[in-house]
Amino acid sequence: MRLDDEQESSHYEVQDGRGGGGLGGGLGGGLGMLLPLIGSRFGCGGIAVVLIIMVVMGVNPLSLIGGGGGGQQVQTQKPASGQLTDVQRTSLKVLGSTERRWTDIFKAEGQQYPAPTLVFYSQNGRSGCGAAQSAMGPFYCPADQRIYLDTDFFKEMETRFNAPGDFPIGYIIAHEVGHHIQTITGQADKIRKAQQSASEAEGNALQVQMELQADCYAGVWAARDTNLMEPGDLEEGMRAAEAIGDDTLQREAGRRPVPDSFTHGTSAQRMQWLRKGLNSGDPAQCDTGAA
Ligand SMILES: [Zn+2]
Repeated sequence: MRLDDEQESSHYEVQDGRGGGGLGGGLGGGLGMLLPLIGSRFGCGGIAVVLIIMVVMGVNPLSLIGGGGGGQQVQTQKPASGQLTDVQRTSLKVLGSTERRWTDIFKAEGQQYPAPTLVFYSQNGRSGCGAAQSAMGPFYCPADQRIYLDTDFFKEMETRFNAPGDFPIGYIIAHEVGHHIQTITGQADKIRKAQQSASEAEGNALQVQMELQADCYAGVWAARDTNLMEPGDLEEGMRAAEAIGDDTLQREAGRRPVPDSFTHGTSAQRMQWLRKGLNSGDPAQCDTGAA
């Protein structure tokens, strides 16, 4: 991605979470207190087994450190951008770029674009939708209109998902911005209402629609930022879209893909909708419900 000329977004916060909270933190905190007990009964071998179980369950054992004390503090700050890491600043350039592109799109409809805020956290964070945990991956919280990002996730993308390059950073942030668009346009509410009276399989299908539309919106952003794409970017994005398809993730986890349980779409679908946005640059083409 060519981001040198992009101005960084000023809509960001950094959470410093020690101890952890909610979901994983609660589990971690509880285990944190148990570990010394297990250690005294079963020695270091016992602790190793617990740690392995946690890793398998997707809980970061490091979240134990400082856990168990009961005091869970997450401090939110806004340091000067010069104090941020390279990947954080790249993320803010992407966010700034999405703000400019979506502001134009909304303006063409006579509307204003309310930009979301990007929250960086490490391992444990807090969102308006509950605890934020690295294992959850990046997500958008409609309740506080914030995108939560553990920047270690990009490192994981490179190693675990084999999707290196900087374009996946753009793709993922633009995908979460896509969920923001769905929220402020009321599309997300409509889907959520439809889900309430749907069967589980239908509910999942609606969720897939949402996710594929967010992929398409990510493509729209990339298409409209004509300076942005460099040779190889498209391939990087496609590789990322392929790597995080539900069928690929399930197969990698050693399971036969079960389409009813898909909530993000298959690799082929994700690539198809990202490309649709990229080729058209038109959000009206992202009607995944009609397809
Ligand atoms: Zn999503």
